[in-house]
Amino acid sequence: MNHSTSKRTAKAQPQVESTVSLSITAKLMKFTARQDLVVGNCRVKAGETCFAVRSERRPGRYYIVRFNTERNTYQCSCGANTCEHEHLKTTREYVLTHVVVPAKAEQAQSSSQETIVKAPEMTMPLTAAQWREIMKRDKARQNAEKAKDWARIEDAREQSKRETALVG
Ligand SMILES: [Zn+2]
Repeated sequence: MNHSTSKRTAKAQPQVESTVSLSITAKLMKFTARQDLVVGNCRVKAGETCFAVRSERRPGRYYIVRFNTERNTYQCSCGANTCEHEHLKTTREYVLTHVVVPAKAEQAQSSSQETIVKAPEMTMPLTAAQWREIMKRDKARQNAEKAKDWARIEDAREQSKRETALVG
């Protein structure tokens, strides 16, 4: 920190922007840096995996959280840095549910908690068109069965008529 800078100025205008602008709405996004970048306290190396955590106060702005291997702790681009705060908590929760215990990820997602970033799903959900196609096929199958039943009923009727005729 430059001592000639008054505290007030330093707070109002950080020398390094502590957020990045992203055109996403998720609360948290895991990403891999394509190039070296410096965001607030975070110096991210190209290829490093880090997290963008949504700013609650500034829409469209995201803080960068990375794992600082030298200090063995998570570090945030905002003023709180490595101190425990909401951004680190959000990231840790994400890592716990999505990275460390992937088997539990689905459970966490189905709970009332806000969905953070959806992990790619193994089975793609059916599209509306696919559903329509399935429903159509099912209808056709039902109709075919109904037609068969009717044919059987008609047959039986014919038969009984003939039998009655014979008896009579
Ligand atoms: Zn933070």
